[in-house]
Amino acid sequence: MARDYYEILGVPKTASLAEIKKAYRKLARKYHPDLNPNDKAAEAKFKEIQEAYSVLSDPKKRAQYDQFGFVGDFPPGAGAGPSRGPGSQAGFEGFEFSEYGTSSFQDFFENLFGGFREERAAGPQRGEDLNYSMTISFADAINGLQARIKINRLVPCSVCGGSGFAGQGGERICPDCRGQGRSFIQKGFMRFSTTCSTCQGSGRLRGQVCSSCRGQGRIPGNETITVRIPKGVDSGSKVRVPGKGNAGVNGGPPGDLFINLEVTPHSFFKREGHNIYLKVPITVPEATLGAKIEVPTIYGEKKTIRIPPGTKSGQKFRIKGEGAPVLGRNSRGDMFVEVVILPPPHIDQRVRELMKELEKYYEADPRSNLTG
Ligand SMILES: [Zn+2]
Ligand SMILES: [Zn+2]
Repeated sequence: MARDYYEILGVPKTASLAEIKKAYRKLARKYHPDLNPNDKAAEAKFKEIQEAYSVLSDPKKRAQYDQFGFVGDFPPGAGAGPSRGPGSQAGFEGFEFSEYGTSSFQDFFENLFGGFREERAAGPQRGEDLNYSMTISFADAINGLQARIKINRLVPCSVCGGSGFAGQGGERICPDCRGQGRSFIQKGFMRFSTTCSTCQGSGRLRGQVCSSCRGQGRIPGNETITVRIPKGVDSGSKVRVPGKGNAGVNGGPPGDLFINLEVTPHSFFKREGHNIYLKVPITVPEATLGAKIEVPTIYGEKKTIRIPPGTKSGQKFRIKGEGAPVLGRNSRGDMFVEVVILPPPHIDQRVRELMKELEKYYEADPRSNLTG
């Protein structure tokens, strides 16, 4: 994470939009270049503040930032690549804030308080992306699965078909702002105006606002969907389900749903990336004389490995292609079997005799190479 936007604005991570706006106004007043001519430090600070605000004031960008620590494209390898459907693009956009950067102090404050230029264009807006956390078993992560999940999302209003209007009637003046497109809030001696939420700032309404969605065109709903988790996912993998985020606004496309996966560990297979590690006990005679032993694999089939005579504890044997599937590719990692030599039961009298006999065959000091 490059910079902490919350720190820059001096607000807690839980800050409301109003708190973020308040903090931004205060800092912007202090550092605006018009008020700090020829002050490079103030200018840099001002840019930083703008950048932080442009992200944190946008719920969609803020959610991305909270989750990923940045706003922009996925870093390479971060996502579950193949889950992006054909023709679909990564659901992330860069941010831009040039709108403020070039404006004069006066323009800037008109912009900020009036909310005019930045919000007037109430065109189609893409719906927000949503996140869903899911825990799956080790085996399901290896083999992939189809899961039915229930999600809460904003869906197009069925009463008005997403338009936000009840009928086909002609245009009329918005009753909430009396056609001004703005509503006003008095705060102390200051009066702020914001875009009227009823008419989205246009000052006019077509027909009647739909009473079901109150003109929003979308309503909270829940939906059960089938998601395909590809084989080879691991803890931290994200699977994108295109179009299952919130419905868009004003005819905009829906956002995407991201499934954040957590994989429960296996009781004896350990996974690191594509490779699988397994510790297997062998007996002293097997280690000494050599043996063929059967070991389980994550795919259920057993594999035979040959333990050569004179095998030491901790020695690893590779079984090619028995590791985890490589996400999105038709290949697998490897499996590494580490042998652990098991002593025979030491309370048995006969074993003790045999071991005493065996001792003679070791070198005088098996740890001689450890002395400097
Ligand atoms: Zn209005
Ligand atoms: Zn509606």
